[in-house]
Amino acid sequence: MEKFNIAVLPGDGIGPEIVAEAVRVLKAIGKKFKADFILKEAPVGGASIDAHGVPLTDEVLKLALGSDAVLLGAVGGPKWEGLDYSIRPERALLALRKELGLFANLRPARIYKVLIDASTLKPEVIEGVDLMVVRELTGGLYFGTPKGVEKLPDGTERGVNTMVYTTPEIERIAKVGFEVARKRRKKLLSVDKANVLETTELWRKVVTRMGKDYPDVELSHMYVDNCSMQLIRNPKQFDVIVTENTFGDILSDEASMLTGSIGMLPSASLGSTKNRAMYEPIHGSAPDIAGKGIANPIATILSVAMMLNYSFDMTEAASLIEKAVESVLDKGLRTADIYQPGTKKVTCREMGEAILGEMK
Ligand code: NAD
Repeated sequence: MEKFNIAVLPGDGIGPEIVAEAVRVLKAIGKKFKADFILKEAPVGGASIDAHGVPLTDEVLKLALGSDAVLLGAVGGPKWEGLDYSIRPERALLALRKELGLFANLRPARIYKVLIDASTLKPEVIEGVDLMVVRELTGGLYFGTPKGVEKLPDGTERGVNTMVYTTPEIERIAKVGFEVARKRRKKLLSVDKANVLETTELWRKVVTRMGKDYPDVELSHMYVDNCSMQLIRNPKQFDVIVTENTFGDILSDEASMLTGSIGMLPSASLGSTKNRAMYEPIHGSAPDIAGKGIANPIATILSVAMMLNYSFDMTEAASLIEKAVESVLDKGLRTADIYQPGTKKVTCREMGEAILGEMK
């Protein structure tokens, strides 16, 4: 039986409620597919500040580094908002990303037919949308140097950020893009601004060269301004989009909002080896509904499906979860955030139960 070590970090707010359901799904998969998931749970974010005074202890970092994958709920909340930035709950996420070397962020946006009305776009535009944004996470404008704001002799100020990418940085993210496309509909779009930014001219050159190693993947290129427009105009044209950090930050938010339901969207952040990966819902800790048992666990459950797909190569198990989610939605079950008259409102636990039921 294959063994997988998983660090489970529920975090704050609704984190513990949604992660509990995802863990139940993971355990059921372990039984059904004869995989030994060894789960170790630990506090992170505000929960860790309360227990240990810091958002991420060395011990929890060690646990994450020694695991095959990390499952995270969400961190943060009003209780910790007055703290210094250096020890805020969100620092835990940044530290985990850095220490695990997570350079690729994968965010799928998929429309469920029955939730089509949750989107602000017309049904005919979004029906059938199923795309993935692969964003570079550790380079580009957010990290490049020189950076900062300096005072000028005339009393005004000058702000500088630097968009910088090296060939190896582009190669490793493009590789993720090509490989994700291979697991999907085999179409990869690389997004840049090669007509204006030299950095992304290099980006386009490197991605084009790499395309020759992936003859089975159909590669195309688009400028970021056009891509942003096309996402609203005709999002069905996209399969996998790979892009640099800043463009990816913006495009992935835009893409996820096509679906209109934040409680449904999972994400994965991957590093350079198979055992460097973190899976989490894209939403935050939702302090407004924490502890009420009404949060939507689907984003976290689908994050488990991504873990099975990308970390453990258990594609059949991943698709079992995805199909189960689709079935419960088809049957009219809804948590409060996606409720519409005529459907059945269920709690976080009931949604988890129903998905487990479908998996049998
Ligand atoms: P949020 O995503 O927590 O909530 C936004 C809105 O969506 C809220 O009304 C919330 O109730 C709702 N919502 C979110 N997830 C839901 C779910 N699963 N089911 C039902 N409803 C859901 O964003 P926010 O309110 O801006 O931030 C709250 C806290 O979360 C802050 O402290 C913020 O820093 C933190 N945060 C953490 C992460 C993370 O851990 N990755 C990401 C974003 C925000």
